[in-house]
Amino acid sequence: MTKPSISSKSSRFGGAWPHVVVIGAGVCGLGIAWRLAQAGCTVDIFERGEAGHGATWAAAGMLAAGAEAEPGEQRLLELTRISLAAWPNFAREVEAASGLTIDYRDQGTLVVALTHDDVEQLRFTYEFQRDLGIELQWLSGAEARAREPHLRPGVAAAVYSAGDHQVDNRKLALALKQAALGAGVTLRERCPVRALAVEGERARGVHLADGVFIDADVVVLAAGAWSREIGGLPVEALPPVRPVKGQMLALQMDPAAPLLSHVLWAPKAYLVPRVDGRLLIGATVEEKGFDDAMTAGGVLSLLEAAWRVLPGIEELPIAETWVGFRPTSRDDAPILGPTVVEGLVIATGHHRNGILLAPVTAEAVSGYVLTGEMPAAAAQFSAERFAAAPSLATVGGSGR
Ligand SMILES: Cc1cc2nc3c(=O)[nH]c(=O)nc-3n(C[C@H](O)[C@H](O)[C@H](O)COP(=O)(O)OP(=O)(O)OC[C@H]3O[C@@H](n4cnc5c(N)ncnc54)[C@H](O)[C@@H]3O)c2cc1C
Repeated sequence: MTKPSISSKSSRFGGAWPHVVVIGAGVCGLGIAWRLAQAGCTVDIFERGEAGHGATWAAAGMLAAGAEAEPGEQRLLELTRISLAAWPNFAREVEAASGLTIDYRDQGTLVVALTHDDVEQLRFTYEFQRDLGIELQWLSGAEARAREPHLRPGVAAAVYSAGDHQVDNRKLALALKQAALGAGVTLRERCPVRALAVEGERARGVHLADGVFIDADVVVLAAGAWSREIGGLPVEALPPVRPVKGQMLALQMDPAAPLLSHVLWAPKAYLVPRVDGRLLIGATVEEKGFDDAMTAGGVLSLLEAAWRVLPGIEELPIAETWVGFRPTSRDDAPILGPTVVEGLVIATGHHRNGILLAPVTAEAVSGYVLTGEMPAAAAQFSAERFAAAPSLATVGGSGR
């Protein structure tokens, strides 16, 4: 591939294209690496395991900026809305660059209430979200069942969010990997980074676990829930990110006669139908560090919640169960852009929104590497916001 001519974008590197090392090949690292290679940079990405098999593999792929907006998350909503709006083009571009499909689907999302209490809660959320300008439609139980005939007959009410969509996150991971390779990124899988190399308060490269040193003009830290575990990070540069465990499972529907066509939020679980008939049910939200055990209680609570809203699942075979680790920051929002170490750029902390935020993360962080500037909506999410209170106090996780 011929490199584009050097524009003013690269001026902060004295007219040369920077050599960038990315740590972690999840949706964040792959997207950033792809964009940087497209711009003309030499990019090496190091992945401890297999590309895309961290939280990115474990996710449900919901692109839900609207139906999941919660009180206290108004700032994040601005960013999630920008990313949601970027998704159709991003999907087309990833598919064209990789030659792979990612099953981006835009049928909208249904949020269902079963009991009187659920209806009260749903009405509160509906009014809060409507006040934020999110396009929502209140449905009676009968109207909800007209859209999804397999819902439990007693369903009390629902809200339809036309703007919330889904993508197959596993296909996305594979396609992003191909797109990045096609743009010239060098990907090294099963090649963990042991430590960041810092000299005189500037990142100089990385030390791999096998002892090899790789020098770089810029290092991008995108190691998801493991981002604090990279050695060599000065204390002030340690991102306040922790793993928040999520158990999920998939049932197998008949693809020719699926029980569900929309993404569905029920009390205590969500259900996501895939094109191939898999029905994902998620997810627990647990503060258990990197404990990767599926538990009887986790499976029981997910299946019970799903069965209460969609009783027809009872006969379906269980296709898969898995655990993933959301990379969660102290305020549940991503950490993007500069750090206190010059030349070290960060993209982590995406918690339950990393798939949704993939387009904006790739754009904003690659843009920062090239120009030294972040778009305003993303700049609010720099690591600087934690500087005043560096402890790793945990907050309760919520949602996906
Ligand atoms: C159960 C569950 C459901 C979710 N559902 C959704 C959803 O519906 N919608 C949504 O938008 N988001 C969802 N998320 C969140 C989303 O999955 C994450 O926010 C996103 O995948 C984070 O991407 P990442 O690239 O930062 O992390 P990851 O995908 O975890 O990638 C980080 C990578 O870094 C690698 N790594 C770690 N240490 C090293 C090292 N030392 N050297 C080299 N490589 C290293 C890891 O192996 C990993 O591949 C969900 C998450 C979970 C767990």
